[in-house]
Amino acid sequence: MRAVTVQAPGEVRVEEKPDPEISAGDEALVRVEESGICGSDLHIFHGRVPVEPGFTIGHEFVGTVLAAGADVERVAVGDRVLGCFHTACATCVSCLRGDYHRCQSGQTFGHGSKLGDLQGAQAELLLVPRANLTLRLVPEGMSAEVALFAGDVMGTGYHAIAHAGMRPGDTVAVLGLGPVGLCAVQAALAGGAVKVFAIDSVEQRLAMAAEFGATPLHLTEEEPKRAVRAATGGLGVDVVVDAVGDPGPLAMAISLARDAGTVSGIGAYAGKGEVPLGLAWLKGLSLRLGLANVIAHVDRVLALIEAGKLDPAPLVTHRMKLDQVAEAYELYDRREALKIVLTP
Ligand SMILES: [Zn+2]
Ligand SMILES: [Zn+2]
Repeated sequence: MRAVTVQAPGEVRVEEKPDPEISAGDEALVRVEESGICGSDLHIFHGRVPVEPGFTIGHEFVGTVLAAGADVERVAVGDRVLGCFHTACATCVSCLRGDYHRCQSGQTFGHGSKLGDLQGAQAELLLVPRANLTLRLVPEGMSAEVALFAGDVMGTGYHAIAHAGMRPGDTVAVLGLGPVGLCAVQAALAGGAVKVFAIDSVEQRLAMAAEFGATPLHLTEEEPKRAVRAATGGLGVDVVVDAVGDPGPLAMAISLARDAGTVSGIGAYAGKGEVPLGLAWLKGLSLRLGLANVIAHVDRVLALIEAGKLDPAPLVTHRMKLDQVAEAYELYDRREALKIVLTP
C-alpha cells in the first residue's frame, strides 16, 4: 500500500509499505476513502513533534471496514466508518471515568512511538485498534470530507465549548479562527450562545466566522477588548475559548472573560511565557485546559452535523491526491488552506 511518511523536518513523501494485517481480536482493517491534514500534522512536518523517519502520519479518516477481529462488535466488514484521532481501552481508571483522552494505554494515530506507536491514516490502508470505541458508522448520506471532522476538528471545537460548561444565553469569544476555532464558533452558536465574538487577523477567516453568525473582530485593526466590553455592558463574556495555544492569547482570554467566567484553552500550549494568573484569580475565573475528549463527544457531534446544526463543509478548501502530499503540506504551511482532504 501507499502511505505518507515524514522523512525529515519539512519533508513528507509517499512510500510503498507492506499492507497492515489484523493481529488482535479488537482490531479492524480500514480501506481509507479520505484523510485530512491537521494543524498537529504541521508540528510533525516542522519537527516540533518528533516522529521517526518513515513513520506514516495522519489521524483524521473515513473509510470502509475490510476486515474485523472476532471481538469487534459495533462495526462490520463493508461498513463505512469514521475514526477518532486516538484510541482508548474502555477499562482503565481514566476510561471508566469517561476521560478517554487520558486513557492510560491510548494510542494516537500517526504521531510516532512517543504517542503510542500507531501508524497513521494518510495511507491506503489503516489498522485500527480498539475498533469498538475508535470507529463510528458514517451516517447515511454524509460525505467523507464532512464525517472526518467528527473524530477530530469538530470534536475538538465542540469540546472547547462543552468543557467550558457553556449554557444557552451565554456570550462567548473565540480567539484564533483556524479550523478548530471556527468549529468552536459553530458549537457555541449551536449550543445557544446569544453572541459569539470571533477574533483573528486573517480576513477570510473572519469573514467565514461572520457567515456562521459570529461577530468578527480583527485582532490588530480593531480593539477586541474594548469591543467586547462595549457589547457586554463593560462586563466581558461568559466563556472565552483560546484556540491558539500560546501564553499571549491565553492572557487575552483572561482579560476578555467576565468575573467568575470560564476560559477554555484548547490549543496545544507548547511555548513558555507570562500569563496573568493574578488577574485570573482576582476575577475568580475557571480555567479548563487540555486535549479534547473526542470519543466522549463523537456521537453527539455526528448527530448535530446530521441535523444541520454543525456544518464543517465550508472549512474544506482543498481536495488533493495522496501523491500530491508534498505540495499539500507546503500549501497548508503557508496558511493558504483551512482543511485539505486527501484521497488515495
Ligand atoms: Zn488533528
Ligand atoms: Zn483507557
